[in-house]
Amino acid sequence: ETILVSELANRMAERTPDVIKSLMRMGLMVTGNQAVDADTAELVIDEFGHRAVRVSDSDVEQVIDQVQDKAEDLRPRAPIITIMGHVDHGKTSLLDAIRKANVVSGEAGGITQHIGAYQVKTESGALLTFLDTPGHAAFTSMRARGAHVTDIVVLVVAADDAVMPQTVEAINHAKAAKVPMIVAINKIDKHGADPQKVRTDLLQHEVVVEAMSGEVQDVEVSAKTGKGLDNLLEAIALQSEILELRSNPDRAALGAVIEAKLDVGRGPVATVLVQNGTLKRGDIFVVGEQWGKVRALINDKGERVDEAGPSVPVEVLGLDGTPAAGDVLNVVSTEAQAREIADYRIKAAKDKRAAAGAAITLDQMLAKAKADQNVAELPVVVKADVQGSAEAIVQALEKIGNDEVRVRVLHYGVGAITESDIGLAEASQAPVIGFNVRANAPARNSANQKGVEIRYYSIIYDLVDDIKAAASGLLSAEV
Ligand code: GDP
Repeated sequence: ETILVSELANRMAERTPDVIKSLMRMGLMVTGNQAVDADTAELVIDEFGHRAVRVSDSDVEQVIDQVQDKAEDLRPRAPIITIMGHVDHGKTSLLDAIRKANVVSGEAGGITQHIGAYQVKTESGALLTFLDTPGHAAFTSMRARGAHVTDIVVLVVAADDAVMPQTVEAINHAKAAKVPMIVAINKIDKHGADPQKVRTDLLQHEVVVEAMSGEVQDVEVSAKTGKGLDNLLEAIALQSEILELRSNPDRAALGAVIEAKLDVGRGPVATVLVQNGTLKRGDIFVVGEQWGKVRALINDKGERVDEAGPSVPVEVLGLDGTPAAGDVLNVVSTEAQAREIADYRIKAAKDKRAAAGAAITLDQMLAKAKADQNVAELPVVVKADVQGSAEAIVQALEKIGNDEVRVRVLHYGVGAITESDIGLAEASQAPVIGFNVRANAPARNSANQKGVEIRYYSIIYDLVDDIKAAASGLLSAEV
């Protein structure tokens, strides 16, 4: 019973180097392509604050069966890219321009379908997979469901507008997910475009681009004229090489749902991004609480294909129900097994809902921090009524800490607590702190559903005191 270190990281939505570091602290010297046994894996999972899901005996067997990739079986795979940035800065335009440029240079007559993701080939021959849903809401909700589908974030910043609130949100989301960024400075065709302002603005958010002697690649583009698009694609290909993304095409598929719908003519349809292995027609699979047998696979050009390998997005037909975006797909050997796992998950989800109110409280985070022998981070999301308070709170929180615990502000901003804040908090298991602001109704519902804790304050002293107490282990169980 073993699992590959890179696979373990993938399943936890953590970075492989972080998992390797954690194993090193346990005295194990391994690389991402080596395997560890199930018990060690469970220790690591605990250390990262996740729960090991030994769903059922058959599931465990199956899952472990699937992770026997040997280093020599691993092949390079295309990177998966999400475009983020402030509204109107050109995310959709950029996605369209990249797709169109490629259709022209690619196969003639290929009419691209919107299936939630598409692949392009760069001039130098690298394949890139773009998620077609720009923005951080989708990114964060997928991550909250455990699907780690983005390898690279392209941060679009309009050169005539520079860094805006959602630019900052996007930066924080990418950082929280530990996904590398490339900055696309867009709209350079416009009068009044000031790319340099974008670069200096970004410095304030600790994004230092190459043009400022930093390490984050920055590329000037125009989604309108197409200028710089090639450079952007090559920058992505370069970043991808650095990441050394690898997977094994010769095994049962593992993938993530990026979109799903109930189609009148075709029944439930899910777009799946294969993350490892190859998905084939006739494969039996379980995906979240659904299962099925692949009846047809349709690629991003609307063509029927027999199989889809790593990083290839395909529409999957043959599901018994509609899964959710972020659900993980596993190919299994028998229908009985698929049905059993799906049933088990339905029941488990029901149990979980029954145990509602199981919020991620400061106390639980503290317990987690204590279990961890190293410096633990207490992640928080802060929203306040005015910028001055928000900054004062962040400064005060960042000062808290000792050798064991440190507070990490994932994101802060001005205004009501929104669903986006809840999504980010859930993905990082953080509470949301509201200072003189409330959560709006959708955010409250979402927090209830996801078990995210919201704490309200109107006195900075109280707020800092509470967090300090939590951080130093003085907070009693009354939270
Ligand atoms: P999104 O909200 O980030 O997806 O932004 P959109 O892609 O919808 O673009 C917002 C507006 O900016 C639209 O009117 C686009 O036509 C325009 N736009 C996007 N990219 C460029 C560009 O490179 N140059 C110019 N001049 N306009 C652009």
